[in-house]
Amino acid sequence: MSTRNQLHSAGLRHTKDREQILELFESTRTWTAKEIHEALPHLDLSTVYRNLTKLVASGLVSDVHAHDGQSHFERAGVTHHDHRVCDTCDVIECVPCPIPKQETHHLEFIGTCETCA
Ligand SMILES: [Zn+2]
Ligand SMILES: [Zn+2]
Ligand SMILES: [Zn+2]
Repeated sequence: MSTRNQLHSAGLRHTKDREQILELFESTRTWTAKEIHEALPHLDLSTVYRNLTKLVASGLVSDVHAHDGQSHFERAGVTHHDHRVCDTCDVIECVPCPIPKQETHHLEFIGTCETCA
């Protein structure tokens, strides 16, 4: 489903800003508001926060509770997986669960992301 259709079916008005933000969430990693702002520098931080709030409220994006006290967001509804924090750039990537039969946990690994490796 295109990002435009995803916004539509979530009952959100389609805007270019929202579409661009949602496109970032196609990758298997998490995003903080600051990282979104860095990836889309033409959107100021308050615009990013405002849109994130809408995307979370509409169920397209959810808050992953991460180690550093910051809000990290990723696509809502993805199947259970765990996370790897890059020790160089602090990006949090989504990684397959190493113990798939027991899904009541959230593991965070420390490692090096594909960009920094
Ligand atoms: Zn990295
Ligand atoms: Zn994830
Ligand atoms: Zn797991």
